[in-house]
Amino acid sequence: MVPGARLVVLGKQGAGKGTQCVRLSHHYVIPHVSTGDMLRAAVKQRTPLGRKAKEVMDRGELLGDDLIMAMVAERLGESDVRARGFVLDGCPRTVEQAEELAAILAPVDLDLVIDIEVPTAQVLRRLAARRVCSDCGANYSTSQPPQVNWTCDICGGEVVQREDDREEAIARRLELYERQTAPLIDWYRDRDLLASVSGTGAPDAVTRRIVKAIEARRGRRSRV
Ligand code: AMP
Repeated sequence: MVPGARLVVLGKQGAGKGTQCVRLSHHYVIPHVSTGDMLRAAVKQRTPLGRKAKEVMDRGELLGDDLIMAMVAERLGESDVRARGFVLDGCPRTVEQAEELAAILAPVDLDLVIDIEVPTAQVLRRLAARRVCSDCGANYSTSQPPQVNWTCDICGGEVVQREDDREEAIARRLELYERQTAPLIDWYRDRDLLASVSGTGAPDAVTRRIVKAIEARRGRRSRV
């Protein structure tokens, strides 16, 4: 394992992006930068950004590119990210955001963009079962609940269903993913930055596949 990496993880809602990003963050010793988590923290703290974001997020729609990219640019400018890199989760979500991200990072490019592929029927099942800690964001499910009475094993916070994991919002989010985010996969493939990895099976197996793809890319780079 070589610490430090600049990674983006793509995948439909429920593909396991959050879980895999936390694992990659530990594996490569890099900050996990999740735009969804940053926005949910802003909503909780009732900041001006949070007040603006809440309604849009609850409907399962996307926030404006300018607002998101300003937030991301600020985070990527911080010293931990500059020193060690990052695993970016939830951004980019549109080709415009990908272009802006490349401009923010220039002259250095991303190491790799990982697309976690899971069939839609499977993500629908996962999303309906997903539960999260309303304080720290830790992930649970109806089949793997926290140990005590829907309170978080890590921080004791209340474990709930996300507002945007309800049926109507899920359908909207998946439709938006197909329309706006799926074209990103081609955009990154054209730039030779994409690795597609199957997201089915146990989380450990998926992590192994992703790490293998990253190491293969690093090997290829170091031989150039
Ligand atoms: P997530 O946890 O990544 O599914 O994000 C939750 C919600 O936050 C999304 O449904 C959007 O409303 C908003 N959001 C997060 N990241 C972005 C982004 N890159 N662009 C636009 N909206 C975003």
